[in-house]
Amino acid sequence: MTSTKSIIILGAGESGASAARLAKAQGFEVFVSDYGRGVDRFVAELEEAGIAYELGGHSEERILAADEVIKSPGIPDTAPIIVALRKQGTPVISEIEFASRYAPRGCKIVGITGSNGKTTTTLLTHHLLAFAGVKTLAGGNLGDSFARLLLDFPPQDVYVLELSSFQLDGIVAFRPDIAAVLNITPDHLDRYEYELEKYANAKLRIAQSQRMDDRLFVLAEPTVLGAAVQRANPSSQLATIGAGDITEKTIKVEGYGFDLNAGQLRGKHNALNALFAVRIALALGVNEQEIQLALNSFTPAPHRMEVVATQDGRTWINDSKATNVDATYFALDAMDGPTVWIAGGTDKGNDYDVLTPLVEGKVHTLICMGKDNTKLLEVFTGAIPNILECHSAQAATVFAGHRANKGDRVLLSPCCASFDLFKNYIDRGDQFRAAVQKLYA
Ligand code: ADP
Repeated sequence: MTSTKSIIILGAGESGASAARLAKAQGFEVFVSDYGRGVDRFVAELEEAGIAYELGGHSEERILAADEVIKSPGIPDTAPIIVALRKQGTPVISEIEFASRYAPRGCKIVGITGSNGKTTTTLLTHHLLAFAGVKTLAGGNLGDSFARLLLDFPPQDVYVLELSSFQLDGIVAFRPDIAAVLNITPDHLDRYEYELEKYANAKLRIAQSQRMDDRLFVLAEPTVLGAAVQRANPSSQLATIGAGDITEKTIKVEGYGFDLNAGQLRGKHNALNALFAVRIALALGVNEQEIQLALNSFTPAPHRMEVVATQDGRTWINDSKATNVDATYFALDAMDGPTVWIAGGTDKGNDYDVLTPLVEGKVHTLICMGKDNTKLLEVFTGAIPNILECHSAQAATVFAGHRANKGDRVLLSPCCASFDLFKNYIDRGDQFRAAVQKLYA
């Protein structure tokens, strides 16, 4: 007789608490350890499920005695407890890996990763499938963790999972039937060539256990990602998604044209995301007509090119989720007329120079909304005729209201993290939306 296998979960957040509940439901001996305070509502779930836990430190001896450890994506590999576990050979996996062992027989798993566009593509894929009557749920790095989808909902035919590179770091046998790697761009410019390659490799782990009848969709891009695909040499059927198959408002798959005009997705980047979602839906057997109808009715998540008001002939767009240069690049590219651009925040070593060709002749006013705007001022003085500075979403909105003419766009696409003036990108976008609504109240 084998004794009960003991599983230790490090981190009491969304993925940790649900992995712990799933492990308990599967009959394991479970203990949760969080070096910090944990998150109240998830700690309450542990209490309710009668799962033993500790907060504010790790009982090293107990953790080192585990048969297997599930690590929250937020805990770095360099944390001393992880180093000690790996050294003695204890398997350390992610919640995604653990949960995938208990996915219902015969279900399909779609895994979506990349630097930008994960949430949009995951939600759109889910929408295309659900619209066609497929029994499906979306989760992972957005909303509910995979373990929670398995525990608290009836079995589904398709699970659409957004996956971060941290989640992919801890996979071993996880095998999505369909995987998508949307793009690889440096979010932190302090990660240089070599690091970027490592980042691309981490993203491609998504395909490491795929088999011949599985599908892998990647962006056709000759640089870092392309090289990583060649190195990884996946066994799955590889399909590349090319920018040649899209315009801002149309996507083409094997001669069939899909039209994005009736829907709410804006910008070339979203056409690319839609192309990935469409290819996935087609691979799962949804027909073209249903896909077209679903594209027309999709509502994108807030803070991503979200039109918050169209008033006085001006369009106000909230792209607060754009926390890096690449996201803002596509946002500016999507502006098809005179624009007031609100940007700034915590700079992560951004190289704004790539944006200058996009602002010329288009952005007539830049409103810098950050504690320290030095770098924005340096790069765009001369390229943009009017530059103002402010320190709140409300002030930025009032300034924009004065400067935007009839027919203009006002775009909040900060290109930076939000932590200097806001709690997070959601707080920043919410404050902007509220300020715009107040302007017209
Ligand atoms: P993620 O979940 O990967 O952060 P989101 O869908 O939340 O992606 O989008 C994040 C930001 O990136 C938004 O500002 C959005 O407009 C922009 N974006 C979305 N898709 C892409 C893409 N394919 N390439 C570049 N930027 C994108």
